[in-house]
Amino acid sequence: MSKHLHIAIARCPKCPACQQEYVDDWHHSIRRTVGFVAEGSDKCANCGKFYAFDVYPGGEVHSTMWRKSA
Ligand SMILES: [Zn+2]
Repeated sequence: MSKHLHIAIARCPKCPACQQEYVDDWHHSIRRTVGFVAEGSDKCANCGKFYAFDVYPGGEVHSTMWRKSA
């Protein structure tokens, strides 16, 4: 079994699995800030999977999810 990193880049958190964007009040999902990068995680409202996201200076959000594959 191996793992693959899926990533989605947008102006807001975006589910790497189904491309659902989290456009609502997602700043509440930020857990901590490391340097200039804010880290958060959330559950996709569409497919129910959890993913993490990093908010970079300038507002670009990288959403990531590790998915297993056989
Ligand atoms: Zn999803």
